[in-house]
Amino acid sequence: TSFKDLGLAEELTFALDAEGYTTPTPIQEQAIPHLLAGHDMLGIAQTGTGKTAAFALPILHRIASDKRRAAPRTVRNLILTPTRELAVQINDGFATYGRNIRFRRACVFGGVGQGPQVRALNGGVDVLVATPGRLLDLMDQGFVNLSGIQTLVLDEADRMLDMGFIQPVRKIAALLPTGRQTLLFSATMPKAVADLASFLLRDPVRVEV
Ligand code: AMP
Repeated sequence: TSFKDLGLAEELTFALDAEGYTTPTPIQEQAIPHLLAGHDMLGIAQTGTGKTAAFALPILHRIASDKRRAAPRTVRNLILTPTRELAVQINDGFATYGRNIRFRRACVFGGVGQGPQVRALNGGVDVLVATPGRLLDLMDQGFVNLSGIQTLVLDEADRMLDMGFIQPVRKIAALLPTGRQTLLFSATMPKAVADLASFLLRDPVRVEV
């Protein structure tokens, strides 16, 4: 199987060629067709399996085929991740895979001034990568509106649990439209993560690698 066989737009397959990605990893091969079809997903996968591209490529595919862009202070696709390091990695992944597509991105996390993050959100973003605490702060101050979210991705849900982020994640998710597509990835499935998954996901496809 090639990335083209999975149904991805040329803008993406060209970018993947340039990165030297010749074949999809198992999680990419299993997940991408279901995600392009709009299904929710429960992914049991560790870092290093290629899960970032597994969720980023279908989001970018949809952005490539839709000329509309996010309105000011709104977000189209939201990725929640537990740490600043992961947020930066995921944001870099979107930049790399989306290099042939015009879209707006922002990355927000705690421990740094919020001014530049607020300015990045002001114009509206198609892809926002965020840690939960900082995102809630920005939402509470009215700097970002999540009522137009199409896709929510929860990355490393078990680490979110360890870091005390389950409540903030539930609070954020409660403010999102119910018609969205939701993906939850976790390396392990303790009960609190399984409970969060059943709260967030609707009839999910389960992928395990
Ligand atoms: P991740 O699990 O998303 O952190 O990805 C692990 C590493 O694998 C990253 O450095 C990616 O750039 C790389 N990678 C992801 N998908 C592929 C692929 N299909 N072919 C080659 N490398 C890949």
